[in-house]
Amino acid sequence: MPDGFPDFRLGSVLATSFTGTLSERHGTAVERIPTPQRLVDWLAVSGLAAESCTPAQLDLARELRESIHAAATAAAIQDALPAAAVQVINDRSVQGRAAAVLTAEGERRWQLGSASVEDALSVIAADAISIIAGERDGRLALCASPTCQAAFFDTSQSRTRRWCDMNTCGNRQKKARYLANQRASGGRAGSSGDRSPSPR
Ligand SMILES: [Zn+2]
Repeated sequence: MPDGFPDFRLGSVLATSFTGTLSERHGTAVERIPTPQRLVDWLAVSGLAAESCTPAQLDLARELRESIHAAATAAAIQDALPAAAVQVINDRSVQGRAAAVLTAEGERRWQLGSASVEDALSVIAADAISIIAGERDGRLALCASPTCQAAFFDTSQSRTRRWCDMNTCGNRQKKARYLANQRASGGRAGSSGDRSPSPR
C-alpha cells in the first residue's frame, strides 16, 4: 500500500480492472483512485501512461468508471442498457486519441495521441464497448459476493466463474461458508442453556 493508498486489483480485462478501482460497492466501498496521481499510477501499470491528471480529469475518469459499471451490470443481467451510461462511454471513446501498435515481440501496446487522461480513457471505453457488445470470447457476470456484485468478464472454459476475483471475494466467501458450517455443526452445545450433548 504505497503512500497509504489502497492497492490496485488488476485483472486481465482492462475495462473491468478499471471498474474494480471502486470495490465493495454494496458494502464499505473502497476508492482505489482517491487522487489524480493515483489515477496516473493506475493508468501507468495498465499500459496507458498519461503525463498528468487534474481533478477534473479524475472526475471524468470516475464518471466513465461508473458508467461502465452500470452498463456492464445491465448487460450481465440482460437488462436494457442505461442510456446515460452509454452516452458517457461513447463520449469518452470518441474524445480521445490512441492507436494500437505492435511490439517487436509481437505484443499489442497502446500509443496515446497526446499522453492525456482523455486518450487513456478512450482506450478503456473502447475495451468496455467490446465486452458489452459481446465481441469478445467470454461472458459478463456479477460477482456472487453480496457486498461486491461487481461486473466481471468470465473467460473460463465452463463460463461458471462466480467471483470477480478469486483472491479477494472468492476467498472471503469460502471462509464465510466454512465458518457458517462450523457454527451449524458444532455451535449448539452450551449456547443459552441448551443441554444438547456435544458429540464425542
Ligand atoms: Zn467481487
